[in-house]
Amino acid sequence: MVSVDIHKNEMNHNNEIMSPTSSLHGLRFDNRFYQAMPADQEDTNHIRQVYQAVYSPVNPTPVKKPHLVAWSPEAAALIDLVEADCRSALFTDIFVGNQLLPGMQPFAMNYGGHQFGNWAGQLGDGRAINLGEVLNHRKEHWTLQLKGAGLTPYSRSADGRAVLRSSLREYLCSEAMHHLGIATTRALSLILTGEAVVRDMFYDGHPASEPGAVVCRMSPSFVRFGNFEIHAVRKEVELLRTLADFTIGADFPHLLAEKGDTERYVQWLAEIARTTGELIAQWMRVGFVHGVMNTDNMSILGLSIDYGPYGWLEGYDPTWTPNTTDSEGRRYCFGNQPYIGQWNLMQLANALYPLVQAAEPLQEAVDEYRTTFQSRWQQIVHEKLGLENSEEGDAALINDLFELLTKTETDYTIFFRRLTLINPADNEPCNDPLAQLLPAYYQPDTLDDEYRAAACRWISRYRARLARNQIPNEQRVLLMNRTNPKYVFRNYLAQMAIDKVEQGDFGLLTELHEVLRHPYDEQPDFDHYAVKRPEWARNRAGCSMLSCSS
Ligand code: AMP
Ligand code: MG
Repeated sequence: MVSVDIHKNEMNHNNEIMSPTSSLHGLRFDNRFYQAMPADQEDTNHIRQVYQAVYSPVNPTPVKKPHLVAWSPEAAALIDLVEADCRSALFTDIFVGNQLLPGMQPFAMNYGGHQFGNWAGQLGDGRAINLGEVLNHRKEHWTLQLKGAGLTPYSRSADGRAVLRSSLREYLCSEAMHHLGIATTRALSLILTGEAVVRDMFYDGHPASEPGAVVCRMSPSFVRFGNFEIHAVRKEVELLRTLADFTIGADFPHLLAEKGDTERYVQWLAEIARTTGELIAQWMRVGFVHGVMNTDNMSILGLSIDYGPYGWLEGYDPTWTPNTTDSEGRRYCFGNQPYIGQWNLMQLANALYPLVQAAEPLQEAVDEYRTTFQSRWQQIVHEKLGLENSEEGDAALINDLFELLTKTETDYTIFFRRLTLINPADNEPCNDPLAQLLPAYYQPDTLDDEYRAAACRWISRYRARLARNQIPNEQRVLLMNRTNPKYVFRNYLAQMAIDKVEQGDFGLLTELHEVLRHPYDEQPDFDHYAVKRPEWARNRAGCSMLSCSS
């Protein structure tokens, strides 16, 4: 049993409260989804199959003793909230689910999904409750959603709650992704509920109590591929059309100009394919492994969504998955993500078939995924290497590098970051090519002559290629350093922050949040967060392997 002593806690921002009045009451809600979509007519909150409805109205379940752990100033600014708002008791009450503001209309969404390649039927928001859509001063809509806010009609056999460890991981990772420049849902706040949640973390018959928490997520839309699949599978075609038309109108308004309905749906799918292709290429750039790319975890906007047993590549290994549930099949391992993106889009295309009634245009739309992914990945790899254009022979140089990275455990992030230290002006024979790269190797003492020779050969080729670059070396370094982050949310860092917060110490969480705001900057004071995973973390639960239990 883990206890959290909230009295030792400090808020994550130390400024004074500026004003006792709150602009929380000034939030303007424009609940388009709630008002336009067909709602479940049953108004009692019990677990059930929900037919002929896109969502079910349901209130969050209040908690005993909420305590604010952290809030994101950048996310708050998106809904025009300032520090004083976030530090108010009202903020904690609202974003843990104990109070509703006027204008909020809470609901859980109905969706299905393919889990690990199989149709899983109705899933839905089992523990996520949408509060409403804030219309900010820039006329943007931001849906606020509490994760871990209690039972809904979609909770199936679970409790509707979330534990601190998974909530902290979601909170910090969404903000870290945003600062890496990768499309993602956002996190506004992380709040302890003051209530225990029981989880059998490794499904091995050892349930334990853990502190519960609620994260408030924000997104222009939380609609997933699975929202369309559920209605298609149930042959609720009018509902499918209503949801598709709403989504296009709300989130893809530029497509409204398309002449016919059919053409509009096809163009829409093509756009989803492109944004998804872009997203997966960006994940591959930074070594992010989502871990559960089920179709219910695929955003219609191409955002990273549902941070569960995700992980960051440490040693480069395309077969690596952080998810223990997937350790046999490795369906969602790092190297499979590009393929799974396409597989998931095929499921979405199948779901949209009743609206288009022709397979070929849907297939062509899905094909945009591959085209987008390939060209973006091509560009990314060039930028990772600091090559400003592409030449014949680059493909072999790149393939040989990725091959080399698999020969010995090599930290993906550190390796690419340190490649800037290889200098094209250096004509010396490659005596100790690895000197610059040594911090990237997990077992530097085991690098044998064969490996060294292969690495040497590759570095000589790379230097020769760099010498033909048209841009000055300083510019190449800048290009690489804005492509290869120095700081990522390493798995063991997340676990260390969790351990500290469980002891009531929020310092590390606050510090990591700060560091991860500037992932491409050197930040020499924080070098210790940019080192390879320590050995103690190699096999520790939460550091390299995670279960879905959260
Ligand atoms: P995930 O694998 O986290 O994307 O979740 C798959 C499905 O299980 C979704 O429908 C979730 O809402 C639901 N779910 C996961 N955890 C819980 C929980 N603790 N209580 C209720 N539903 C849950
Ligand atoms: Mg999910």
